[in-house]
Amino acid sequence: MNFFHHKKFVCEQDKEKFETYEELIDHSRHVHHITILKCNGCGKEFIHEKDRLHHVREEHEKELDRREHKDEYKKVVKSPQEEIDENSRKFSDNF
Ligand SMILES: [Zn+2]
Ligand SMILES: [Zn+2]
Repeated sequence: MNFFHHKKFVCEQDKEKFETYEELIDHSRHVHHITILKCNGCGKEFIHEKDRLHHVREEHEKELDRREHKDEYKKVVKSPQEEIDENSRKFSDNF
């Protein structure tokens, strides 16, 4: 198994290997015409919805928690940030 010694990211379609996830994404988009998913929080790109969700859980869940708790105290004011959150929730439901 010397598969993962040098290059960590392997294309599932043709087993081509890449050093960075960005390269794999670029390859997937241009060679296989895969629709790349974007994190609504920070714009990071992902091949699989599960990877995106994992990232959101790891990177942005705390922010969401904080916001949800804040909502309990002031429900009247709706910030543009909260509208973005609603959009991303709808986006996730489509998958
Ligand atoms: Zn490929
Ligand atoms: Zn993000």
